[in-house]
Amino acid sequence: MASRFEGKVAAITGGASGIGLATAEALLGEGATVVLVDRDEAALARLTEQHGARCLAQVTDLLDAESCNAMVPEILAKIGQIDILHCNAGSYIGGDLADTDPATIDRMLSLNINAVMKNVHAVIPHMSERGTGDIMVTCSVAGHAAIPWEPVYSGSKWAMTSFVQIMRRQLMGKGIRVAQVSPGPVHSALLADWPEENLRKAKENGALLEPGEVADAVVFALSRPRNVTIRDMVVLPSSFDI
Ligand code: NAD
Repeated sequence: MASRFEGKVAAITGGASGIGLATAEALLGEGATVVLVDRDEAALARLTEQHGARCLAQVTDLLDAESCNAMVPEILAKIGQIDILHCNAGSYIGGDLADTDPATIDRMLSLNINAVMKNVHAVIPHMSERGTGDIMVTCSVAGHAAIPWEPVYSGSKWAMTSFVQIMRRQLMGKGIRVAQVSPGPVHSALLADWPEENLRKAKENGALLEPGEVADAVVFALSRPRNVTIRDMVVLPSSFDI
């Protein structure tokens, strides 16, 4: 049990915080080597120091086309293989579309959609050649329900649901599993704009997950036998009314 992922390499985008970091720590705890991909260089330096030799840093800005395209080749040059690619980095904007500026829309869609598609595109030849691999995408419950207060974010996650399920079917003949995890609200830096009081209330009312509770679902899916795909996991706080 303790070493279910020994010998496996997982690359996790947005690995320096929240769900990505919790998943990285869970996989490290089960014997995996983990590449934390993030643009936050200082956080990566601190985390790799803290977690030791099986935790590597990949400094990538997924919004920079050159940096994004270099990510998979640079990881392979460092460590030689990627068994698990967890496309997890994402950003959030809420509010009426009329109040959202076009540059912010561009940035969010580039991170939540384009970067994921480009990262998956880049890893397919490597995983196909090895005849094995897992691609996990952090989607959201907002990719299953049309959330009225977050049109751009919800739209980006619906795009991911569609993309993941198409890729699952395109890649299933190559030994590559593709799946998604779709959480409700999670207590992470993504919710930094929430007032402290609202965060506390949401937690007290059972309306907020901890990142580790999402990581548990990811590890469950990744640890199934190769003939089993957990297609999607909608992980909600028990009192979240959607
Ligand atoms: P987070 O803010 O804690 O972590 C996001 C990480 O991504 C950070 O370390 C950040 O530095 C990194 N990042 C941001 N932009 C980047 C870029 N351009 N290049 C490289 N790295 C970049 O957020 P989180 O809550 O852990 O979110 C992770 C994923 O989970 C996102 O896709 C998000 O949409 C999804 N999600 C979050 C929630 C929630 O309530 N927190 C709910 C459902 C889904």
